[in-house]
Amino acid sequence: MAGVTVDTRHWIGGERLDSAATFTDRSPIDGTPLAEIARGGAEEARAAVAAARAAFPGWAATPPPERARLLHAIADGVDARLEDLAAVETADNGALLRSHRRGVMPRAAHNLRFFADRLLALGHDDFTTRGHTNHVTWDPAGPAALITPWNAPLMLATWKIGPALAAGDPVVLKPAEWTPLTASLFADITAEAGLPPGVFNVLQGYGAEAGEPLVSDADIRRVSFTGSVPTARRIARAAAEHLVPTSFELGGKSPLLVFADADLDLAADLAVEQYDNAGQVCLAATRLLVEEPVRDAFLERFLHRARALVQGDPREEATGIGPTIHPRHLERVDGFVRRALAAGATALLGGGPHTELTGRTGGAYYRPTLLAGVAQDSEIVQEEVFGPVLTLQTFTTEDEAVALANGTRFGLAATLATGDRDRADRVAARLVAGTVWTNCFFVRDLAAPFGGSRASGMGREGGDWSFDFYCDLKNTVTAPKGWQHHG
Ligand code: NAD
Repeated sequence: MAGVTVDTRHWIGGERLDSAATFTDRSPIDGTPLAEIARGGAEEARAAVAAARAAFPGWAATPPPERARLLHAIADGVDARLEDLAAVETADNGALLRSHRRGVMPRAAHNLRFFADRLLALGHDDFTTRGHTNHVTWDPAGPAALITPWNAPLMLATWKIGPALAAGDPVVLKPAEWTPLTASLFADITAEAGLPPGVFNVLQGYGAEAGEPLVSDADIRRVSFTGSVPTARRIARAAAEHLVPTSFELGGKSPLLVFADADLDLAADLAVEQYDNAGQVCLAATRLLVEEPVRDAFLERFLHRARALVQGDPREEATGIGPTIHPRHLERVDGFVRRALAAGATALLGGGPHTELTGRTGGAYYRPTLLAGVAQDSEIVQEEVFGPVLTLQTFTTEDEAVALANGTRFGLAATLATGDRDRADRVAARLVAGTVWTNCFFVRDLAAPFGGSRASGMGREGGDWSFDFYCDLKNTVTAPKGWQHHG
């Protein structure tokens, strides 16, 4: 981490707090221990929520322009420490350093700025009912629990922190145990920016030990979670106890549909992009669905590009694919592939761990993999692998393409490659997905709604939808004149 010091205790009520126990955080690049992390439990969760609750009246009463100013000041702090944040995040989760520097960390700052500005633009034109005025306001809801995964730690956290703080809700962030570091650095940045104590809190620890008591706390008024489906079920049960609204951004098994009329070079570029972050991207289009007549022409272009990907240390500029997050995760990914191969699939690319690289470095490297000969109802097509593993299927009609695309329990995103605008509109209209990209991938404007259908999530965040979630909307109805009730 090149000399960056990270205080890995909890950050509660504007103070660092230790736990009796710690756990070791290791780098997926080479397995080296990075830090000992405070291992929070029920007691620390309670303290964090109590701090957020104590901060709530003051933060809720802070005028929006001041809230926005503080969010911009935090964003300035992220920009100022961009190199540290990028280096620490890469060491911690193994994603490419150049992506963190040029894309991810600037976006983390942008996430905060966007919701600060959006807060100030929030407005709902008053309207009248039989002469009475309806005036809608977004009232702060109370402390929010934010639970995030390890694949894009600070980036995903700021998607939640930005709108929650803008909305007037103090937050308790519980980062993933495999990537706890940038949350701790971010806590320093909020303090340097002058955010009042208790408005932003970090609870470190494991999901079951720290996350569960956090989301179960009676003083939590919102839970925003990004992670896996099984964890979402547990959180939904806990939140149900206190009838707390939840926002879930979950897994995916998104398709990339390549039609015969597509620009096949572009389609191949889009397909290879799915190996980004070693395939550990919720939105990744891991199912390549290709129109039969162009299968071979597409495949040739895809394999040419995929074979040119350099796998190795994510800190090197030339590296195109780094490690998976953890040796345990690598085992899980490999389990999916081994079972698929045993069921009759063929590996057209990769098909196992990069044993030499893994052995030499002590990291957890899985080869970019493409499996063909997979049945629609097979595990490898139906379940999220969350690694650099794509499947290849073909179709002959548009109906069949749509049926295959929609044929899983997920509905996060879909990507189309086609040269026919009418087809793009027709197919997009029939797809079950929170986001459909045509001839592009991963373009996200925060003003747009973001989320998943079916098992990919509940609710949408982005734009004003975030404020709808983090606020209690209120309608104030006023009589036309004389302040009398006119029924
Ligand atoms: P996970 O569900 O295992 O863990 C996510 C977070 O939940 C971690 O911080 C974990 O500590 C916490 N947690 C675990 N059990 C908990 C409990 N009982 N109560 C409260 N918190 C608990 O997911 P993961 O493996 O870290 O992340 C990968 C998953 O995240 C994939 O399924 C991926 O698709 C999904 N994801 C979705 C999006 C999206 O926007 N839709 C984005 C990124 C990742």
